[in-house]
Amino acid sequence: MRLLVIEDDPDLNRQLVTALSDAGYAVDTAPDGEEGHFLGDTETYDVVILDLGLPKMDGISVLEQWRRDDRKMPVLILTARDRWSDKVAGMDAGADDYVAKPFHMEEILARVRALLRRSAGHAKSEIECGPLALDTKSTRVTVDGTAVKLTSLEYRLLAYLMHHRGRVVSRTELVEHLYDQDFDRDSNTIEVFVGRLRKKIPAEFIATVRGLGYCLVNPEDEH
Ligand code: CA
Repeated sequence: MRLLVIEDDPDLNRQLVTALSDAGYAVDTAPDGEEGHFLGDTETYDVVILDLGLPKMDGISVLEQWRRDDRKMPVLILTARDRWSDKVAGMDAGADDYVAKPFHMEEILARVRALLRRSAGHAKSEIECGPLALDTKSTRVTVDGTAVKLTSLEYRLLAYLMHHRGRVVSRTELVEHLYDQDFDRDSNTIEVFVGRLRKKIPAEFIATVRGLGYCLVNPEDEH
């Protein structure tokens, strides 16, 4: 899962990026509305965290422009605590949720998880595929109840496939959703990570669909 953080307060920006990266997400960041708008317009994000008070282009204008251009990614806005009118304006401009400042980082993480599972059509924070289970809250992966140890990129890959289980996901889509902007994509190809993941969870969970991509399946369903 790949997120974008648009926040002009450098300390808060850093705290958000650190917390979200630690939670297993690929994170891009922008310090003002103009750059943030550009990234959201040209890159692919699973959730955007958008501050409303931003230099160069305010958050509401950024959001309105994206929605006019049919950019549909879930957007969580950050508002001032006492400005109820900001919340209303933000939601009307196309925001999916809001958090008022100052906030606890746990609340941001919980709301991001909720937006991700809602946009993928899941009701619970635990996603299951037969004996394979992913707890998006603790980032724990188990097979038949036994924990599987994954690197952050392996987790990100599996989490994306689990959120979209049963659907064929192309390599291009995976590249867009797993890596942040600065990642060295050439030496870290999707095939390599799929190969490593297949050694850690039973390989038959990740089916290769020739010419199209990968699909997470429950091998027990196929008999
Ligand atoms: Ca601000």
